[in-house]
Amino acid sequence: MAPAGDNVVVSSMKLERMFSMKGGKGEASYANNSQAQARHARSMLHLLKETLDGVQVNPPEVPFAIADLGCSSGSNTIYIVEVIIKHIRERYEASGYKPPEFSAFFSDLPSNDFNTLFQLIPPLASYGGCMEKCLAANGHRSYFAAGVPGSFYRRLFPARSIDVFYSAFSLHWLSQVPESVSEKRSGAYNKGKVFIHGADEGTTAAYKKQFQADLAEFLRSRSHEMKMGGSMFLVCLGRTSVDPTDQGGAGLLFGTHFQDAWDDLVREGLITREKRDDFNIPIYAPSLQDFKEVVESNGSFAVNKLEVFKGGSPLVVSQPDDAAEVGRALANSCRSVSGVLVDAHIGEWLSEELFSRVESRAASHAEELLEQLQFFHIVASLSLAFR
Ligand code: SAH
Repeated sequence: MAPAGDNVVVSSMKLERMFSMKGGKGEASYANNSQAQARHARSMLHLLKETLDGVQVNPPEVPFAIADLGCSSGSNTIYIVEVIIKHIRERYEASGYKPPEFSAFFSDLPSNDFNTLFQLIPPLASYGGCMEKCLAANGHRSYFAAGVPGSFYRRLFPARSIDVFYSAFSLHWLSQVPESVSEKRSGAYNKGKVFIHGADEGTTAAYKKQFQADLAEFLRSRSHEMKMGGSMFLVCLGRTSVDPTDQGGAGLLFGTHFQDAWDDLVREGLITREKRDDFNIPIYAPSLQDFKEVVESNGSFAVNKLEVFKGGSPLVVSQPDDAAEVGRALANSCRSVSGVLVDAHIGEWLSEELFSRVESRAASHAEELLEQLQFFHIVASLSLAFR
């Protein structure tokens, strides 16, 4: 349960204790609003498979371990784990080996709805101790599954224990809103805004610094945990502009109708200006250069691939001509990822008011949204530099 709007300022509390995508299977849940992420991930499968081709295949007695970091609570993570296992199994078979046993670690922050996720994972076939029989059983899973709660900005696994790290659409989430951004007297205070799209340079500089510090911690932790010969495939929201005040698709999602809806609440006297200004979305969509600088200064990883990839629209609608459906899709997609934070800041009732305004504002700009809302992703394939 999210705290009930008790004036929680995200910068001063541990975001990692309360943050998650919207759980359950309801209309605004992540499980129900992540078809766009599924689509974007599928369009990048060829890049994932290239990464998997570079992973060292060990003797089959050694279990093969996969970790999905920021797995959330929908079925996307299960699909990806299955793709990875299938591909690795084929590689073993092609080299004349019997496939190994597989472990899949589903990792996210502790507030993630692991219950919903675990219920979606297919049952492990009862295979009488023989994984081969299990692999043959349809509709069953061919791997051992475990949930790992914790922030990926810290250590999550024992040293040299993971063969493949996968993380999609997660690393643009910062570990916190930079403190200076919520401090009224600071030059980085994000006055009048709830996101950094179009914000002052001081504010965006603080976000960029936070992103780079967080990514550095992420890489440092993974460099201990990855097996020699392992690989990592990372996808996060990115931007094509060099200017961080232009946050691209993330900017349109959180810097336009979402921003205007917060302004509506202020105008209507439902919240104070200060209350709005205290809220900030802890997302930073990096440029390729922002990302590259961190990987290079970390030095533990060799870059197999680092590129900007056009993912497409985050809106999945069955009738693009239906403005109401487009409005609903935008509001649900905003809410599925930021709803928990909004609820914690203004409570569920005002949150409802906010997202209904997002919905009607988006419906009146439906055509424009369908045309202009595009996500670009940073895609990185990395292996340990020292072997
Ligand atoms: N990978 C999934 C979900 C992406 S949603 C997919 O492809 O659909 C982003 C996820 O990242 C959320 O579940 C969120 O809780 C998680 N996340 C954000 N910050 C995190 C952190 N510091 N540590 C672990 N997970 C984090």
